[in-house]
Amino acid sequence: MNKSELEEQRSTVPERDRYDLIIIGGGPAGLTAAVYASLFRMRAFLITTNIGGQTVEGSKIENYMGYEFISGGELIGRFQDQLLHHNYLDHRMAEVTAVQSFPGGFTVTTQEGGRYQAQAVLIATGMRRRVLGVPGEERLQRRGVFYQHVEEGALVAGLDVAVVGGGNSALQGASDLSRQCPRVYVISLGDWTADVAVQEEVKALDNVTALRGYTVQEIHGEQRVSGLRVKYLKSGEERSYDVKGVFIEIGWRPYADLISTLVDLNSEQPG
Ligand SMILES: Cc1cc2nc3c(=O)[nH]c(=O)nc-3n(C[C@H](O)[C@H](O)[C@H](O)COP(=O)(O)OP(=O)(O)OC[C@H]3O[C@@H](n4cnc5c(N)ncnc54)[C@H](O)[C@@H]3O)c2cc1C
Repeated sequence: MNKSELEEQRSTVPERDRYDLIIIGGGPAGLTAAVYASLFRMRAFLITTNIGGQTVEGSKIENYMGYEFISGGELIGRFQDQLLHHNYLDHRMAEVTAVQSFPGGFTVTTQEGGRYQAQAVLIATGMRRRVLGVPGEERLQRRGVFYQHVEEGALVAGLDVAVVGGGNSALQGASDLSRQCPRVYVISLGDWTADVAVQEEVKALDNVTALRGYTVQEIHGEQRVSGLRVKYLKSGEERSYDVKGVFIEIGWRPYADLISTLVDLNSEQPG
């Protein structure tokens, strides 16, 4: 790109929307970066779809220094207070849909068509839940397909359910759900990976059935989940279970889609 092309690229964005730094993401990482940018008196801009990120979901945080425990909502309230009242930084609630590079900078585009430029972009977009990607999953979300057991468990009290996953979140979910559901099926591709103490707790529960070595093929239901079909990986044999809730706890993936054309990504990235 020659000098005039560079000027042309820059002039597509008005002066007021050009920054030294754009921070994408308003979770703990992005908010911390914003406070530092403000302290350094940088001309910086924060763009985020929400304030708090995953922390909002944390009902009880026990490893934040200075607090014996604090709820995610309260902690984020304090972060927000620090950003808005003590270390103010220009910001916008919006979803970034593209980050493009040009020599000397980046152009950031938001869903509603906003365009901003900066010499540097700090990506703090955190993680997204992994999904199964099977038929029925998306269509029946919140109608029997859930990604959290804490609040949604009450919606399936008295009904048989399945939990997909074998890590700590999945097994803690199975344990919690076993108190209110007659039968809980735990479906995992292989051996459980949860902490041994959690595994022992779940193994001792009479109403939990472990289906190890199985993959979910489909989630059934018209208005709500009415069952699911699984396949035993070793033999290919398929079975169906009449569960009314499917709790998917198969982990998180780094959300790096925005920069997939700018940097090489490793195998941890694909969803
Ligand atoms: C239920 C639960 C309990 C937890 N409990 C604890 C705990 O007790 N202790 C602990 O240390 N950790 C805990 N965690 C983990 C902790 O919340 C995360 O490690 C932390 O939130 C990661 O911060 P982050 O800023 O990197 O990303 P995130 O919190 O994921 O924030 C990402 C931000 O980026 C924004 N964003 C994403 N894509 C875009 C886009 N395209 N455009 C604009 N904005 C975008 C999101 O809106 C969000 O604001 C818990 C997580 C969960 C889900």
